[in-house]
Amino acid sequence: MSLGATAVEQGCRGRQGCRGRAGLPRSTGLPRSTGLPRSTGLPRSTGLPRARAAAGEQAEQGCPPVEPARPGTILFTLKAVRAILTGTARAVRPSQIVLQIMSLESKAPEFVCPQCRAPLRAAGARSECTGCSRTYDDTLAIPVFHPERAGSSEILARVMAAPSQATWLDLLPLLHPKGNVPAEPAQAQRWADERILRHDRFYEMFRRRSSELWPDAGRRIACEIGCGRGDGLPALARDFDHVVGVDVNLPSLVGAAKLVSERRLSNVTLVQASAHELPFPDRVFDYVQAINVIEHVFRPEHFFAEIKRVLAPKGIFCGDSRNRFDAFFPEPHVQLMWVGFLPRRLMGSYVRLRKGRNYGGVHLLSYFELERALRRNFGAECRVSLPDVRTYLPNVPAATARLVESLHASPRIERLALPVFPTHLALARG
Ligand SMILES: [Zn+2]
Repeated sequence: MSLGATAVEQGCRGRQGCRGRAGLPRSTGLPRSTGLPRSTGLPRSTGLPRARAAAGEQAEQGCPPVEPARPGTILFTLKAVRAILTGTARAVRPSQIVLQIMSLESKAPEFVCPQCRAPLRAAGARSECTGCSRTYDDTLAIPVFHPERAGSSEILARVMAAPSQATWLDLLPLLHPKGNVPAEPAQAQRWADERILRHDRFYEMFRRRSSELWPDAGRRIACEIGCGRGDGLPALARDFDHVVGVDVNLPSLVGAAKLVSERRLSNVTLVQASAHELPFPDRVFDYVQAINVIEHVFRPEHFFAEIKRVLAPKGIFCGDSRNRFDAFFPEPHVQLMWVGFLPRRLMGSYVRLRKGRNYGGVHLLSYFELERALRRNFGAECRVSLPDVRTYLPNVPAATARLVESLHASPRIERLALPVFPTHLALARG
C-alpha cells in the first residue's frame, strides 16, 4: 500500500486547510471570511514567532490577550536575560536582541520541506523549499504540505462557508457527516465535551504508563499526530509551552482551528502533513502522541521511524493501537467480529460481503507486528503495554479495571494477555 492510501492521510479522524495549491487553492474562490481563527498558523512573511503572532491575531479579532501562565516563564526570563547579555557582549543591534528573545519564547519548530528536509523561505505568501524549490501554501493560515491528500474538498468547502459566528460545536456536524453528532444542542454539547474529556483521559493514561518506564523528558514542545478536530489539544496546551497539531485532513484542522481560537490556546500551531513525511527538523519534540492513528498506518515501521526522527533525545512517544486479533469485541470500524483473523487479502472482500462497505484505510496490527515495528526503530527503548480500560470505558466495573491493572502489574502475565487484548499502548523513547 502506498502512503497515500492510509486512512490517516485520507482524514479518518478529521484534519485541516490550505491556502494554495492542490486541495482547495485560492483559485477555487472559497470564502475566506469564515471567522475561523488565523491564530493557529504561522505567518511566515513576518518572521515573528508563532506563539506571538498567534496572540497578535487573536487581539485583532477582539479577543483579550492570553496570559500564558505556563511553568516555563522563569526559565524564559533567565534565557531572556542571557540573550540580552550575550547580545550586548556581541554588540548586536537592539532589534536583533528583541528577535532573539521572541524566538526563545516561541517553542514551535521552524518547518522544513517534508520531501527533502531543507529549510523553507518565504516567497510572497508562500513558502519555498531552499533545497528542492517546492512551494507550499496555507489555508486559513494553516500550512499545507500534502494538499493532494487533504481530504474531502466538498467538506472543506462547507466548513469554510460556515458563517463567521459559527462555533466549534456548529462545525462538528459538518465534520461528522455520518450523523454522529446529536441534533439537540444540549446533547451535542455533552457529546463534544465527552470527546475532549476522553482525550484528556488518553493523555493522562499515556503519561502514567510512560512514567512507569522513563522520566519525563520535559514540557517544552509536544506534537499530536492525527489531532483531527482538536479534541486532544487542550490537554497538551495546558502542559506544554508549545503544541503542534498535525493531521492530513484539512477540513478537520479547520475545525480544530476554531476550537483553538475559542479556547484561546495561544501556544498551539496546526499543520497539514502526512504522518510519514513530517515537516519538522530532527529531534525537536519532548513528547509525541497519536490517538487512534496507528491502526490506519500501512507502513508502521516508516511511521515509527519518522517519530523517532523528530523526538528529542529521551523524548517520549505514546500511542494506542487496536489489536488485529481482538478476541472480545467487533472490529470497531465495521462492527464485525473476527475480521482480523482472516488473511489480509481476504478482509476487504469479507467486509464488503457482510456489510457492503469498503475496508480501505484500516490496517490493524497484532501485538507482535506492533512490537516488531517499534523495536526496529527504538531498540530496547520501547514497550507494548495494556491500556487502562477506564480511558476507553469510564463506567467499566471497578473490578474489571482492577483486573486489567493487575495483569499490567506483572510483565510476564501482561505478555500473555497482550496477543488477544482489544487495544495496545505503544510506548517508546527517543
Ligand atoms: Zn524540498
